[in-house]
Amino acid sequence: MLVGARTDIGLVRKTNEDGFHIGGNLFAVADGMGGHQAGEVASRLALEVLAEFQIDGADPTDYLRRAFQRANEVIYTRAQQDKTLVGMGTTLTALFIGEGSLWVAHVGDSRAYLCRGQELVQLTQDHSVVGELVRNGNLSAQEARFHPHRNLLTRALGTAPAVEVDVFAAKWQDEDKVLLCTDGLSGPLDDDEIRQIIQGHDHPQGAVDELIRQARRRGAPDNVTAVLIKLAVQDEAARGR
Ligand code: MN
Repeated sequence: MLVGARTDIGLVRKTNEDGFHIGGNLFAVADGMGGHQAGEVASRLALEVLAEFQIDGADPTDYLRRAFQRANEVIYTRAQQDKTLVGMGTTLTALFIGEGSLWVAHVGDSRAYLCRGQELVQLTQDHSVVGELVRNGNLSAQEARFHPHRNLLTRALGTAPAVEVDVFAAKWQDEDKVLLCTDGLSGPLDDDEIRQIIQGHDHPQGAVDELIRQARRRGAPDNVTAVLIKLAVQDEAARGR
């Protein structure tokens, strides 16, 4: 398994409220929101809770669901206790790699993509107002990228006492690549541009660096974060020893 990752403040924002986690077989990106520094607190808390959560032989679906619920509680409780943090929240998109299967857990409008051969497929649904308009056929994906209300989320972590979490499993193949990114990447770049950059680089870090460079060339109005994992079957054999 090869991994590339980077987060960038972009060209407009004064703080970086995005974050990512890489550890063992667990990867995640988070995009915080809230006044002052609150968004940074929310995304950091989400990634910390996820990183500390023990899988302890549980089914990855249960484990991810419990980790997300716990992260939601921690952020929500913290916001209730501190006036400066009221209303903070974050997206969280997490990937767990198992033998031959992967699991994705997701809340918000960050994304997971699977790149296989010449194809790039978005695995997650955007939990946003424009995401719903696209799914209902009322807006094209291209229009959604420039919609004035594209930042309005229908689901976020930490803004309410409970949250609905999408969790699903998929099979993976040798040389599949999985991209986790925030909307600071998928806004400035469309899926075809993302696909070409991923396919144009053998090592994930080269692809990630180029993705962020291109988002900055488009003005990077938001924080930009990308984590790219290249999967290899030999990892399985190594783990079995
Ligand atoms: Mn963002």
